[in-house]
Amino acid sequence: MNRTQSVLVVDDEKQNRGLLAELLADECRVILAKNGQQALERAHELSPDLILLDVMMPEMNGYQVIQALQQDDATRQIPVIFISALDAPADEERGLDLGAVDYITKPFHPSIVRKRVRNHLLSVHHRHLLENLAKIDSLTEIANRRRYDEALESEWRRCARSASPLSLGILDVDHFKRYNDHLGHAEGDQVLRQIARKLSSFMRRPGDLVARYGGEEFVVLLPNVDADSALALANEIRASIEALALPHPSSPAGRYVTISMGGITAVPSGGDVDPQFFQEADGALYAAKAEGRNRVFWRRG
Ligand SMILES: [Mg+2]
Repeated sequence: MNRTQSVLVVDDEKQNRGLLAELLADECRVILAKNGQQALERAHELSPDLILLDVMMPEMNGYQVIQALQQDDATRQIPVIFISALDAPADEERGLDLGAVDYITKPFHPSIVRKRVRNHLLSVHHRHLLENLAKIDSLTEIANRRRYDEALESEWRRCARSASPLSLGILDVDHFKRYNDHLGHAEGDQVLRQIARKLSSFMRRPGDLVARYGGEEFVVLLPNVDADSALALANEIRASIEALALPHPSSPAGRYVTISMGGITAVPSGGDVDPQFFQEADGALYAAKAEGRNRVFWRRG
């Protein structure tokens, strides 16, 4: 059904792992773990959409595994289905009390397991859709400010841990108010959509993010990108917007729609985002505008 979704199957018995892997093969990508420790590692690393968890396992049982999963921010949200030979109502109740979304007893019926997994994967899919919708700007269909705020927090921490540079660019459409006044808001919206699409085409690596910050302002977040590369990319972006050749009859900055961009590159430290980081980029944007617009200023933190 949905090959992009994955299920982690945890069972200490090889035969059970094989059976479950086989019966789920058409539904999703299957990841296997043979004990609790391996399950925690794989869940943390691979973020499966669903976990099928055996209860009776040596060393660490399923109850201990689900509690450990809930201690980890990276795995807390992953739904767990217990699969257990313990079929008393009290066992099932205990499993559900611990936070499992479902409880399947062994010996299981393959078609029932398959259908239950399918239903849970569908809910996961719907939940992700809703979560993502809440983070998309409805006009331009790129990320919104909320998504950007979350990404900044997590990339800040990630770059701080690995002592890697983090680059942030803020860009603004030059004389956009004049554009709207002259050509109308519908045309202005169209320009914002075209700029958003062009900006998105520059986001090539997994951590790269472009978001609409508000009005005619966009932000570009580039983890693990040093100041030289960020500045080079920013200049490419600026040139590519000018090259769209969208007529701007009332702009003192040129014949076409242009942007100004300010940026900052720094190696983050500490757990929380330093507000100065954004202010530096914003200051650079202000300077780019003051110097005559349609240009990029970049700072090194
Ligand atoms: Mg077992």
